[in-house]
Amino acid sequence: MNKLQELPLNKIRVLGVFAHIDAGKTTTSEAILYYTGRIHRIGSVDDGNTQLDWMEQERARGITITAAATTCEWQGHHLNLIDTPGHIDFSAEVVRSVRVIDGAVIVLCGVGGVETQTETVWEHTERENLPRILFINKLDRMGADFERVLGEIRQRLTKHAVALQIPVGSEDSFRGVIDLLRQTALLWPQDVNGGNAADPAEAAIPSEYADRTAAARASLLDAICETDETLLAMRLEGHEPGLADYQAALRRAVLNGKLIPVLCGSAKNRMGIQPLLDAVIFYLPAPVDVPPVFGVVPGTEGELSERPSNPESPFCATAFKIVGDPHVGHLTWVRAFSGSLKTSDWVYNPRTRTKDRVDRIYRIHANRRELVNSMRAGDVMALVGIKTAATGDTLCDPAYPVELDPFTFPEPVITVALAPATPDERERLRQVMARLCSEDPTLLAGYDPETQEETLSGMGELHLEIAVDRMRTEFGITATASPPQVAYRETIRARATATGDYRKQSGGHGHFAVVRLRVEPLERGQGVLLDSKASPAEVPENFVRNAQGGIREALAKGILAGYPVTDVRVTILGGRYHEVDSNALDFHIAGSMAVRQALHQARPGLLEPVMHADIGVSETSLGTVMADFTRRRGDIHDLQMHGNKRHILGNVPLSEVRGYVTALRDMTSGRGDFSLEFRTYAIVPDGLAGAVIEERQARGKVSRR
Ligand code: GDP
Repeated sequence: MNKLQELPLNKIRVLGVFAHIDAGKTTTSEAILYYTGRIHRIGSVDDGNTQLDWMEQERARGITITAAATTCEWQGHHLNLIDTPGHIDFSAEVVRSVRVIDGAVIVLCGVGGVETQTETVWEHTERENLPRILFINKLDRMGADFERVLGEIRQRLTKHAVALQIPVGSEDSFRGVIDLLRQTALLWPQDVNGGNAADPAEAAIPSEYADRTAAARASLLDAICETDETLLAMRLEGHEPGLADYQAALRRAVLNGKLIPVLCGSAKNRMGIQPLLDAVIFYLPAPVDVPPVFGVVPGTEGELSERPSNPESPFCATAFKIVGDPHVGHLTWVRAFSGSLKTSDWVYNPRTRTKDRVDRIYRIHANRRELVNSMRAGDVMALVGIKTAATGDTLCDPAYPVELDPFTFPEPVITVALAPATPDERERLRQVMARLCSEDPTLLAGYDPETQEETLSGMGELHLEIAVDRMRTEFGITATASPPQVAYRETIRARATATGDYRKQSGGHGHFAVVRLRVEPLERGQGVLLDSKASPAEVPENFVRNAQGGIREALAKGILAGYPVTDVRVTILGGRYHEVDSNALDFHIAGSMAVRQALHQARPGLLEPVMHADIGVSETSLGTVMADFTRRRGDIHDLQMHGNKRHILGNVPLSEVRGYVTALRDMTSGRGDFSLEFRTYAIVPDGLAGAVIEERQARGKVSRR
């Protein structure tokens, strides 16, 4: 039995650290691990030797791809820290981590301020109502400005942000923070030899900061009182609440999302990390502070069941990451929400309706594992022995089955064809692709029967590049990738009705099915909706289902360029059947005929993925890059200044930014950077759609029936 397991639940925190790429999330997480005693030397992202970025590509590229969960201790508390990537091509990682944490630390760059992915992460965490702490990092850097970034936070993220600290000194003279609630300065000794920084010294507030401290403290106290009637009343009666009153009220306000504390520091110089850890413990929720999870009882008509966060209730957990491991097979990372689990226990997976026996339970510290005997509510651990689970699945006590909300991931928008080095390797290539897809739900493996190619689809060029890279480095399989192809869709822009009339009644057992239906456009992102208004006298229910099968099949094949049709509602209005001659296949065919006819009459068009771009360039190349962006059919929404860089924000079709890495490098002499994030699908202008359709026809992709 290990001693961590005896901690009461209120001493546990499950949190994620998020940031825009390069804001310092990895460095902050590393510093946290250092202070919590788990590592003895701070790695540096720049040297490629950090503990969290343990996959080879991550080291090579200096970015974090895989969410690694790490357990550490601070002031008698047990922190389950989930590492998350900053690059949005890996948005699946963000989706899954926000679902299993109880609170979030969002790191911002003191120079760059609120950046695109800060906003994306903000939205994801907002959707889950997660209590949050913001950490303004890199205050030692030239151009860093705490007040400006705080202003950006209030303007672009939330009005509920309140500073708990203000910085002492700035840029290269940054040396500490003032704790506004405790009214004391925390100053770090100057770290001359680049070694490990010591604890801060508490000092009186420097006199030149007296006014600024008083003003910032006053607005903090006002903000806290506005969330708490008791404190407000105390103040009105002329009693000043004490430190503990303010802290307790602030904690309540953070837990229910009314206030978001803002702290600051320099992770690289190890300044501000201990107070950040204190704030995590003090203000972010323990598993007992968050509402119990709910799930549907399998086999019922949506009957809900509650799972309170305590070790006594029936076990339920979410599998949030599956990682292939050369030594133990599959590692299934789970967050337990209720109950407890021992080695050799069975867990039930309601999606696959299978039971698995838990062979081993590991607590993970980045790339090191510790074998334990059990886990319970609030723990984040990796299980060995779970054969069938996919990301997002619930694992629960077989005697008390429950299925928590599944995760929703965006659909892949870009595809490459992969060719094995030799024909013998094809089977192995398929296996490796399947393996990668089980780990990453935004990767999709496919096969194109016409070209006989294996295809891999993902969220962006970098995403696919890394997947192909991993095949080589981790699985030793070299595949040649074709240039990436954009995943177009098809849709309609008008309503239309049509009738599919399928009859063959010349002697013997005949065929008879008539289906009349209407197609109409839906808003972007609605997908396909099928309805029926046909009376059973016209088309019996089972034939309606057969017709809908045919409709779905036709929609999946598309009518213009062989891409699936989306954002359309198809309503069966009526039809006819024959007592003797009609059969299931007849209605399948009639449904398919009817919908194809109707789609042709409904102004069909191509849809293309449109990306949100954030391009950072120096003032000198701004004009060139903007003109080029517009030539690529880019639509500029905003121009921002972050430090000494200009940022172009806007939408651009994915088809126009293939290979943008090289183009931007050429335009900026290598000094530009950018991120692309899938935003929506939009109609391809008719003038351009023709070329895409012709190319698909030439490759034999367009279905004629
Ligand atoms: P991530 O992409 O958000 O994980 O950011 P990293 O932790 O990888 O940091 C990106 C870069 O910023 C690296 O070169 C770090 O050394 C640097 N960095 C991180 N924190 C600080 C800081 O507090 N001050 C300065 N000056 N640089 C920092």
